[in-house]
Amino acid sequence: MSELPYAYEAPASQALFDRAAAVTPGGVNSPVRAFRAVGGTPRFMVSGNGPYLTDADGREYVDLVCSWGPMILGHAHPEVIAAVQEAVARGTSFGTPGEGEVALAEEMVARIEPLEQVRLVSSGTEATMSAIRLARGFTQRSKVIKFAGCYHGHVDSLLASAGSGVATFALPDTPGVTGAQAGDTIVLPYNDLEAVHAAFAAHPGEIACVITEASPGNMGVVPPLPGFNQGLKDACEKNGALYISDEVMTGFRTSRAGWYGVDGVRPDLMTFGKVMGGGFPAAAFGGRADVMAHLAPAGPVYQAGTLSGNPVATAAGLAQLRLLDDAAYRKIDAVSAQIQSLVGEALTKEGVAHTLQNASNMFSVFFTDRPVRNYEDAKAQESFRFTAFFHAMLENGVYLPPSSFESWFVSTAHDEQAVQRIADALPAAARAAA
Ligand code: PLP
Repeated sequence: MSELPYAYEAPASQALFDRAAAVTPGGVNSPVRAFRAVGGTPRFMVSGNGPYLTDADGREYVDLVCSWGPMILGHAHPEVIAAVQEAVARGTSFGTPGEGEVALAEEMVARIEPLEQVRLVSSGTEATMSAIRLARGFTQRSKVIKFAGCYHGHVDSLLASAGSGVATFALPDTPGVTGAQAGDTIVLPYNDLEAVHAAFAAHPGEIACVITEASPGNMGVVPPLPGFNQGLKDACEKNGALYISDEVMTGFRTSRAGWYGVDGVRPDLMTFGKVMGGGFPAAAFGGRADVMAHLAPAGPVYQAGTLSGNPVATAAGLAQLRLLDDAAYRKIDAVSAQIQSLVGEALTKEGVAHTLQNASNMFSVFFTDRPVRNYEDAKAQESFRFTAFFHAMLENGVYLPPSSFESWFVSTAHDEQAVQRIADALPAAARAAA
């Protein structure tokens, strides 16, 4: 059982967690799943249906994680499942070109005007890693600007996030990333254009690209201040660097055309994952055709993948994207707004200081009464209140991201019944957080 004093237990999940810990470091295949930030037993899920997940103990939860974003139509959507079944019956991988990957790329290019060409990969990490390599190859420069609190996957050079104030050369954030790998990464405070201008001035002709989350969700939801993304784009253009918009989280979620559809700032390169794979490992990077022409076999920058453009993954992604019309986004935005106001009302009623922030239908609750503009602000929140809130919601059948630095996600499947269950769970959770 969990050593923490939570009244509820999850014996079947705990037994699985114990088995997992014997064969897998920390018992999980991605660290945040281990509930380290909130304590307690991670729930081992056995099935999903619409807005609900069912764990190994047979308990059902309203899911506000949605697999960290991909499940925008809810779990086991019949049309996505049918497309997958149809694809899988024809074979699971050929290692050759296939029509499914062409159709998925066409759908993406049709939705996002600056996306002239795409290359499919299998994870968001691969997408950002490859986009950075391409930017370096294209510009013949080495340095990369990223922002503290922005996550771009576990790419060596992008795990560096130390530093605040003006251009700081990052130290590696994790053992295993060498100083040399991190040394070409300049980490700047988010939403601070002055710091960007100073970094370009300090390194003339050296900066290959600026990579930013199109609207960050990995320090909790911290949207760009008005003009920030455009300022990045302008600074890149002026200094001969590429502007890379990481839309792994926002892509095809925050609108039909992702965050580009919201702010209209034209990236040189973009990265995608999550929603475009329909719950399967599919991701992509793409953008300006003249830049993409530098990628092998058209050009000299090497990049490849055994399972890239996998027929099952592309069938799932295409089926999901085709169902995401304007009406679907209106529905998701509306249910997200409804849940946000319920959360706000419950916390206000208990006098709990909080700030709700959203980027279209992505949202987070920060346990602070101050607006959160960057990673430092996010870290200043009272995370212990989130822990209490999280466990009360879990106990009452609502599955939240197990960390206060994450976006919450909803889907088209979150109907009135699911929202009512959230509403029913909130008063106890707000009391627990008080
Ligand atoms: N970029 C962003 C903005 C992300 O949110 C993530 C994952 O959460 C990644 C990149 C990495 O994607 P993946 O986990 O598929 O490697």
